[in-house]
Amino acid sequence: MNAYDNALRQLEKAAKLIDLDKDVVARLSTPERTVMASLPIKMDDGSLKIFEAYRVQYNSARGPYKGGIRFHPQVDLDEVKALSFWMAIKTAVANIPMGGGKGGILVDPKAMSEAEIQRLSRAWIKAFKDVIGPEKDIPAPDVYTTPQIMCWMADEYSNLVGKKQWGVVTGKPLDFGGSKGRDTATAMGGFYVLQEAINELDLKASKLKVAIQGFGNAGSVAAKLLYDAGYKVVALADSRVIIFDKKGFDVDKVIEHKEKIKTLAGFKGSKEIDIKEFFALDVDVLVPAALENQITKSNASDIKAKIILELANGPTTPEADEILFENNVMVIPDVLANAGGVTVSYFEWIQNNENNYWSDKEVDDELKERMIPAWQSVLKNSKEYKIDLRTAAFVTALKRLAEAIKVQH
Ligand code: NAD
Repeated sequence: MNAYDNALRQLEKAAKLIDLDKDVVARLSTPERTVMASLPIKMDDGSLKIFEAYRVQYNSARGPYKGGIRFHPQVDLDEVKALSFWMAIKTAVANIPMGGGKGGILVDPKAMSEAEIQRLSRAWIKAFKDVIGPEKDIPAPDVYTTPQIMCWMADEYSNLVGKKQWGVVTGKPLDFGGSKGRDTATAMGGFYVLQEAINELDLKASKLKVAIQGFGNAGSVAAKLLYDAGYKVVALADSRVIIFDKKGFDVDKVIEHKEKIKTLAGFKGSKEIDIKEFFALDVDVLVPAALENQITKSNASDIKAKIILELANGPTTPEADEILFENNVMVIPDVLANAGGVTVSYFEWIQNNENNYWSDKEVDDELKERMIPAWQSVLKNSKEYKIDLRTAAFVTALKRLAEAIKVQH
């Protein structure tokens, strides 16, 4: 399964439906720019290692490129292209004046020391400094990249250009140009949309069982928000293990456990289950919050959840989407469900540019004001065209992108 092929199939499906202008389809079928570099890093033992690195600038019709940098052993060019395309769709769905980009390094950061990761992060900036910048392309965190890494990157860029340029990346620590609410934004945005969805389906949060795959920034914050709102979180997964407790987890205790021993394994009272059992669980809400291509044609028909909230990017393949639609499962697509992250990144960039910082409440109110209309536009298109929410999100975004592309040509 190639994530970029999947992305192009999603584009084709939505474009056909609205009879999208051929020139717009052509423009959106390929990135505006792809940059690759090899980063030489001196390791702690004195050896030299070379790491492959990428920045794909997919589309800037609506504003500067925006999108994270992923450090992962499976990063490849097609994955970065797919992720950058989804960023262009996502910024348009959220209706923020930015385009889409994404970057990555093929690396296993878990096998590196902090000092090595710092050298690697700074090397990424050195390699891509000419194509990024606060008015051109603003990276952010993604899988296995952290506020600390964003801080090193902003610092490196500022050193290279000889002035403080904190707005060059977002997702920075709070005392280094970060925004309040950025750490919880992705899950919070998803939470707002989920609340709208359960109202739409006439469900009650307090009766709903949830399973979450991924316990990092997106997954662990979602678990906490849902737990606090009365949902019963019965299954959780990280890269090593999937844990289940039919009574529901005390998420505060799980977070403590994960912080202490760095894995979910061994959480008191839980039972380990495998991935097949995980997707077949009798839950109401399934939250993929790890990597792409997790829900496929081989497990989609096992899914009993009524709602899938895609906090991860690209977790569902097109074949699985069709099965889920037939089975009446509401899939809240990544480009809507996790758009809270890029939305608060955009707020962070505004605050950096103005050198004026917002309160938690201001961030949260503004986030809600973006997420709810985004949900409403997508739902409206879904009803109007009688289509699934993913295609409806693409329709929403493509209409906005088409307007921006057409006036520029
Ligand atoms: P993260 O690095 O903080 O966490 C990733 C989590 O996924 C970890 O708990 C890891 O153990 C788990 N994981 C990795 N491989 C797994 C596997 N095979 N099975 C189960 N769990 C696995 O990353 P994150 O920021 O939480 O990102 C997770 C997803 O959310 C990604 O798809 C990312 O693109 C997407 N996303 C994140 C943000 C954000 O603001 N963090 C915004 C939009 C989208």
